[in-house]
Amino acid sequence: MVQEKRSLSEISNLSREELVERAKKFSKRYCVGEGKGFRLKDFNADDFPKLKKEEKPAVKEVLQLGVQALAAMQDIMYAQDKWSLLIIFQAMDAAGKDGAIKHVMSGLNPQGCQVSSFKSPTAEDLDHDFMWRCQKQLPERGRIGIFNRSYYEEVLVVRVHEQILRAQKMPEKLITKKIWDERFKDIRNFEKYLQRNGTIVIKFFLNVSKKEQKKRFLERIENPDKNWKFSASDFKERGFWKEYMNAYEDMIINTSTEESPWYVVPADDKPYARIVVASAVINAMNSMDLAYPKVSREKIAELEKVKQELLSEE
Ligand code: ATP
Ligand code: MG
Repeated sequence: MVQEKRSLSEISNLSREELVERAKKFSKRYCVGEGKGFRLKDFNADDFPKLKKEEKPAVKEVLQLGVQALAAMQDIMYAQDKWSLLIIFQAMDAAGKDGAIKHVMSGLNPQGCQVSSFKSPTAEDLDHDFMWRCQKQLPERGRIGIFNRSYYEEVLVVRVHEQILRAQKMPEKLITKKIWDERFKDIRNFEKYLQRNGTIVIKFFLNVSKKEQKKRFLERIENPDKNWKFSASDFKERGFWKEYMNAYEDMIINTSTEESPWYVVPADDKPYARIVVASAVINAMNSMDLAYPKVSREKIAELEKVKQELLSEE
């Protein structure tokens, strides 16, 4: 813990390469990798250093540096037009998805970045297979796509409330006990397919505790500016906490892989959670062979010619 605090203040002196290395190492701690053997109880929602008030600005500074590094990498990614990155956020209500997306992506070029939110499916969505609506929103080459909820809802809320599954217009004989395993397999194959085509997929579970959720719900109720964020259905879902946690655990066991890992982010502290997310995104982008496109000799000669003409203008 002491070492972690010290490293926060040291980070501002690091070079870009050192920062990327540090982010890689730091994010590893929250990365599940291969899902087999994963237990949610090994990851605590409050696994972060308890900082004093005067130490807190350092956390913001670190995030700022991370965001700058991200922006620099995104610039190359966009110019290179080769790799894509899909970032998925899943969590219980009030875990901080919106804030994490807003803060971590704040420095990015909006042209190369797209956020898609997935709420209850529409009638049109339900007339298709469960991945359909998400497939339409996949990031193009060179771009970052962020899914605020995703096809993973299909093994979370739909699993916790099986009546939702019954309302999905699926042929009855396809709804069997094996359906969750089948969905896991389809998701694994889909993400593998994306990866083989140059889209890196990383997934964040913002792990908020039930106690912290209560605190945040009360804030949303007591603060008029936050009232819009709260709905009675959020409270209803809280009643299924245990079922959700079991579903999350099984989802991570079955869909976390070395190439498309889940990160279990301690989300009881929002600034810390954002640093974990930023570090993991840096780590994912660092695994691409990012480089600005090389310009041909002819093109360089042409640029030189235009330069001379510009300089000789009256
Ligand atoms: P969020 O809750 O993500 O912050 P929000 O409050 O603006 O966003 P809601 O209208 O609450 O949006 O929509 C999110 C709800 O939609 C969640 O309760 C989620 O479980 C549900 N949902 C998402 N995908 C599906 C799905 N495939 N089937 C059923 N429900 C879904
Ligand atoms: Mg909601």
